[in-house]
Amino acid sequence: MEKNVELIWSNCLKIVKDIVEWQHYKTWFEPIKPISLKNNILVIQVPSQFFFEYLEEHYVNLLAKTLKRELGKTGRLEYRIMVDSGNKKAQPVTMDIPGQGYKVHSNNEMDFPLVINNPIKNPFVIPGIKKMQIDPQLNPSYTFDSFIEGDCNRVARRAGIAVAEKPGATSFNPLVIYGGVGLGKTHLGQAIGNEVKRSHPNRVVLYISSEKFINQFIDHSRNNAINDFIHFYQLVDVLIVDDVQFFAKAEKSQDALFAIFNHLHQSGKQLILTTDKAPKDLEGVQERLLSRFRWGLSADLQVPDYETRIEILENKMKKDGMEMPMEVVKYLAYNINNNIRELEGALISLLAQSSLNRREIDLDLAKKVLRNFVRTSSKEITIETIQKLVCEFFDVTYDKLLQKTRKREIVQARQITMYLSKAFTKNSLKTIGDHFGGRDHTTVIHSCQTVKNLMDTENIFRENVLELQQKIQLASL
Ligand code: ADP
Ligand code: MG
Repeated sequence: MEKNVELIWSNCLKIVKDIVEWQHYKTWFEPIKPISLKNNILVIQVPSQFFFEYLEEHYVNLLAKTLKRELGKTGRLEYRIMVDSGNKKAQPVTMDIPGQGYKVHSNNEMDFPLVINNPIKNPFVIPGIKKMQIDPQLNPSYTFDSFIEGDCNRVARRAGIAVAEKPGATSFNPLVIYGGVGLGKTHLGQAIGNEVKRSHPNRVVLYISSEKFINQFIDHSRNNAINDFIHFYQLVDVLIVDDVQFFAKAEKSQDALFAIFNHLHQSGKQLILTTDKAPKDLEGVQERLLSRFRWGLSADLQVPDYETRIEILENKMKKDGMEMPMEVVKYLAYNINNNIRELEGALISLLAQSSLNRREIDLDLAKKVLRNFVRTSSKEITIETIQKLVCEFFDVTYDKLLQKTRKREIVQARQITMYLSKAFTKNSLKTIGDHFGGRDHTTVIHSCQTVKNLMDTENIFRENVLELQQKIQLASL
């Protein structure tokens, strides 16, 4: 065993190096000396007590996860701290302290599969062929800057940054981001896309929700155009597929994703996938796909702690140019602890109430708003769900719904979808517009107004909308 210690540690460092900023790596990791590995306890030597505390405070998760990969669940980490470095006469004095990482996190079933893959370069690159212009489908406000870092998301965020710096060239391929509703999967996935676009403008980036991918795939297979569909995706350098849990049971779409994945991965292209479950818990997804997901890095997003929630609120307020007393910020952060989307929802409700009642935001108002703040129902309604229901209802395809057309039925279906998205989700007008091929917020306002008017004047129209409302309510149970 003893002989493995250098190897194990250098494997760990490889991973750490990709995640931690270079300067931090040099400061905190290079001085560490691996000492021994006995009974699955890895002992590392650090230069001082302060050093030990710093590592435990800032890198405990990262160390625990990387070591778990190398040593398995039973692995332990111990620090040997230099108390006195000694001289010719005296031996150095050291003391050994067990690391906290495993104790704290070992119950946590986070898997951390990291396989170092050397991407095989595609030997068939034809020089001179111009890349197609593909709209990356990114929302520019989802950046790393606006993604507050905390213990809850540190590994995922750092891995995201590493991937954005060197798409396809780190061991994090694919990067799988998983976490519950409203914890930032979409934000982080998009931030990677935006950063790649900024630092590598020539790379072809594409963000796609799984629902949209599957819908497109179904449209193409109806038209016998599956090959075109797959070829299109193979042109992409950085592919971000959001919410892959929706692929469950969509066998044929999984086949397409598998083909695309293999092609991109083999050509050294970057894949980023998000899911609401850890890859191992994704039911209804083919094993061969799951095993591909395990090739890279899975990093999870946890619920942010109180301090991080405060920071997120403050950041959001600053962005929206809004002010409120610190006690209100604390009150919100303390009471809303499920997810970040709810936190933002509460902030928006509060803002709305204050301007509606022409009243300054204070603790009283916050309490009132929170009392009425409807917790998200058991299932969250998304714009995508509404789009899907409307498409089924009017028997139009998803692509048609988004198309620029003056056809009355399509225009009305689209306006109804926007109206319902406004009514049933907490999304901003801008986000709603983004879901309709990047239409701007005035279009959404206009659509909502038109729907209201038509509901007042046309019976059939009103009945249709009411029926759709029922369907959405049912879908949320
Ligand atoms: P998910 O896709 O996991 O359901 P989203 O990415 O849509 O979650 O995030 C929900 C909301 O919370 C978004 O408005 C997003 O900008 C915000 N958010 C999530 N994580 C963070 C974070 N770490 N810092 C700031 N805002 C965040
Ligand atoms: Mg999302």
